[in-house]
Amino acid sequence: PVAVSARDLTVDYGSSRAVTRAVDGVSFEVRRGEVLALVGESGSGKSTLAWALAGLRAPSGGAMTHESGDLAGPARKRPLSLRRRVQLVFQNADTSLNPRRSVGDAVRRPLRFFGTAGSRAEAAARARQLISDVRLDPAFVDRLPAQLSGGQRQRIGIARALAGEPDVLIADEITTALDVSVQADVLRLLDDLRRERELACLFISHDLAVVRGIADRVVVLRNGVVVEEGPTDAVFADP
Ligand code: ADP
Ligand code: ADP
Repeated sequence: PVAVSARDLTVDYGSSRAVTRAVDGVSFEVRRGEVLALVGESGSGKSTLAWALAGLRAPSGGAMTHESGDLAGPARKRPLSLRRRVQLVFQNADTSLNPRRSVGDAVRRPLRFFGTAGSRAEAAARARQLISDVRLDPAFVDRLPAQLSGGQRQRIGIARALAGEPDVLIADEITTALDVSVQADVLRLLDDLRRERELACLFISHDLAVVRGIADRVVVLRNGVVVEEGPTDAVFADP
């Protein structure tokens, strides 16, 4: 089944005087358990699309639909039951982790916020479980983000997103800031998670080698427009 889709999606920046159309009539769908890669040069609109889908930037036209409901409007206006199901992991987990809060706290907060863990004790137990689900030592709950490596922090970013029990995970350049050896580990984790949890994964990257390794299908953006789309092998085949 299709977990999430966009139809003729348009996203603008700026005022009515000077508008930058960052995303210009984009349509795609992502099925459960599938990785759809969004590729394109810097400035082609990938992050803007991710932000719109996650409800962090309002589209100016078109529609976004999750299998359980309409994704119209900003995240803060989405019912929590829907909002939790589309989660974004940023390039730099550091920007979404509060340096003064423990890693355990970072994972417990969305559990409480989304109500996916009822009591405090349940949230604590679920946080440890999620941290081990991303292949980290549950004892990390007491550490501060600065006491983790970049790759470990990125895993915590993923654990935090999983706290909402999403069926759509948007990964925006999540391997870009990591060493190549660590990249492979994070990609393997993502690949496992999408199988285990039947996640629909929108994988944004400008690194075509990484995309080849993980994506089932590819959408190529240029200046906010889809210029090519298809199975990964077909898109990367020499013309
Ligand atoms: P990508 O993720 O592919 O690098 P972006 O979505 O970041 O592309 O950017 C798409 C277009 O939107 C670019 O022309 C960029 O300059 C513009 N843009 C991005 N963010 C903003 C912003 N906050 N204000 C104005 N224009 C922006
Ligand atoms: P801070 O430590 O700066 O207070 P929080 O970790 O509390 O930051 O997160 C800020 C807000 O975002 C809180 O309302 C939190 O519940 C919410 N939040 C946390 N994780 C997510 C997420 N994955 N998606 C949406 N909202 C989230």
